[in-house]
Amino acid sequence: MPEEAKLYHVLPDKAVQCDLCHHFCRIRAGRSGFCRARINRGGKLFTLSYGRPVSIGIDPVEKKPLYHFLPGTRTLSLGTFGCNFRCGNCQNWEISQSSGEGMELPFRSPDSIVQEALDAGCPSISYTYNEPTTFAEYALDIMKPARSNGLKNIWVSNGYMSDHCLNAVEPLLDAINIDLKSMAESFYRRICSTLQHPVLSNLKRLVRSNAHIEITTLVIPGFSDSPEMLRRLAEFIVNELDPETPWHISAFAPEFSWKMTDSDATPAETIECAFEVGKKAGLTYVYDAFNHQDTFCPQCGTVVIHRSGYTILRHDMNGCCPGCGKTIITLG
Ligand code: SF4
Ligand code: SF4
Repeated sequence: MPEEAKLYHVLPDKAVQCDLCHHFCRIRAGRSGFCRARINRGGKLFTLSYGRPVSIGIDPVEKKPLYHFLPGTRTLSLGTFGCNFRCGNCQNWEISQSSGEGMELPFRSPDSIVQEALDAGCPSISYTYNEPTTFAEYALDIMKPARSNGLKNIWVSNGYMSDHCLNAVEPLLDAINIDLKSMAESFYRRICSTLQHPVLSNLKRLVRSNAHIEITTLVIPGFSDSPEMLRRLAEFIVNELDPETPWHISAFAPEFSWKMTDSDATPAETIECAFEVGKKAGLTYVYDAFNHQDTFCPQCGTVVIHRSGYTILRHDMNGCCPGCGKTIITLG
């Protein structure tokens, strides 16, 4: 049986309004929200994905990606189905664009997820793979016992949650990676079927919270690879957020995408160009999938973490640079 949702309110004629994300879907009886994971049954909103993870795995925290939070540790990662975006480039589209229909998904209680993380020796739980906003009630019910058992809570998100949702999540959130997909509103409308400004507002809010924050941008040839747009994006992070916010530049692989299989893969030189744009804009920590994965101390230049892919090859620090003592990493 699906759980009744918490963040919604009732409208006339058995309609409801979901208050979880900036779509604020008004849903008539018998219909689902934009994300396909919430349904109005008889004038009440139900969350279809509560307790029904599609995928649970143990990943390096670097894969989220988070490079400055508990480096070198593993994180119990789970995702359900549904998403409040419809990105043509989505690589998890088989779950993100699903309503769960036809999936055999045994119920997993929040406490059993926390126990699994503890048994596996993971210091954190990541809500990832699909958009955690769409299963916020389930995530929150895991985040509470996770916190009381000393585990950290990590969201990997598109940043489209409402203020109501963030008010509930923020006190339990330890780290978040948000996709900032483009500075062009038209990209969000065309590629994701959403608006851009709520993502920018949430980034500004989260950077003032206690949660550690990192940002990822996927560079898609012809869609989000213009040096001018990337410059504006990097300057937004520098000027409106914090120049020390780590920025991850990722490369597009068309063969795994939902609707953009005819697009080109991102060339290495485009990624290098984005890296240069980020550094020139004044970002302290810029990473990419090809050449720039190490963490350098911005004060004295010491290589404090040497990485290859998701693997840490050398890690000489305890949160601070061994050369000059600058704080670089959040150890939780
Ligand atoms: S989470 Fe967002 S997309 Fe899903 S029903 Fe609620 S408002 Fe709509
Ligand atoms: S790329 Fe992310 S935000 Fe976009 S549809 Fe896929 S899961 Fe949702």
